[in-house]
Amino acid sequence: MELWQKQLSQSVVKVKDLPFIPESDEYRKKLEEVGENYPIRINSYFLEQIKGPNDPLWKQVVPTLEELDDFVQEDLISDPLNEEGDMPVPELVHRYPDRVLLMINNQCPIVCRFCTRKRKIGFPGIVTRETLRQGIEYIRNHPEIRDVIMSGGDPLLVPDKELDRILGELRSIPHLEIIRIGTRVPGTLPARITENLCSILKKYHPLYFNMHFNHPSELTPEVEKACAMLADIGIPLGSQTVLLKGVNDDSATMKELMQKLLKNRVKPYYIYQADMTEGTDHLRTSVQKGLDIMKDLMGHTSGMAVPYFVIDAPGGGGKVRLLPNSVIEHTEEEVVITNYEGKVFRYSQRNWKNDSANGSNKSTPQNQDMCQLPA
Ligand SMILES: *Cc1c(COP(=O)(O)O)cnc(C)c1O
Repeated sequence: MELWQKQLSQSVVKVKDLPFIPESDEYRKKLEEVGENYPIRINSYFLEQIKGPNDPLWKQVVPTLEELDDFVQEDLISDPLNEEGDMPVPELVHRYPDRVLLMINNQCPIVCRFCTRKRKIGFPGIVTRETLRQGIEYIRNHPEIRDVIMSGGDPLLVPDKELDRILGELRSIPHLEIIRIGTRVPGTLPARITENLCSILKKYHPLYFNMHFNHPSELTPEVEKACAMLADIGIPLGSQTVLLKGVNDDSATMKELMQKLLKNRVKPYYIYQADMTEGTDHLRTSVQKGLDIMKDLMGHTSGMAVPYFVIDAPGGGGKVRLLPNSVIEHTEEEVVITNYEGKVFRYSQRNWKNDSANGSNKSTPQNQDMCQLPA
């Protein structure tokens, strides 16, 4: 058995083994109920990194009773992005014109308490060989698909041989230009990034990774080594972060995380406003919190360290990017903007009044085409 398999097999999956929870029998009993609704998994590597109750790692993986509160909140649902509604075949989401999300499995190295797919993760029999076969078949039959995101679950929990087979099948589809792997493995089970895995992955370029990091303390020496191995075999590395109350909802933590990622050759890609998923409400923040963090990043640190802040639109509208307001006024004559220091600048465009990106000659600009004015 390899180290990562051992770490996975020694996962905490039961309430009685959870670290840093109240001793009372009554509390544990109630927590059992949470565990019945939403599985628990903390692999032994990740468990070792948890320093105490309420630390940012603890909050991401240890269940609390608040998860059950949401059953009475009507605006929270089990599938807030309506993924099931965009599945032409089981476990493949085709939402955008040219790319799809394909679930490779539904197991993860840890189970995140804020998971957007809380309805599926850790339950048996959801993603099967047959759903995977149908998914790959669908991509093969749809030439407009040029980009596949392998997701789950976590695709890297699939055994090497099986992963090799799946990647090989995807690569045999001529119109599929790029393959992306969405994974939390490098940051939560770094021993999984083995020489053998790397020798498989590097056969399938152009292959991109979008990893998942929420707090700078996840970048341990083991994790940094795993990232280096992936970067060294030429995989462009990206990272996605979920904005979480009490974990990373302050600018200093986010800035440290983004800078630390860049140092490890990982390009921050998205910060997600937390989805309206049942059982996760206690970890959400306001949208303004995310905008404030963006304001504190933009201009204050390397542009490369600044990801896009997005809301994945409830009901299946896809990701929508949000920016703090930088446009004070936008008329035909000029655009008035403000920079990261709050200084104001005027940009004249009086000679290009009738210009527009698509070449049409509108005599008056349409309001909806203009940048939004601050309230
Ligand atoms: C996020 C997502 C994608 C990929 O979006 P990009 O903005 O291209 O990274 C594709 N399909 C679904 C269903 C998604 O949720």
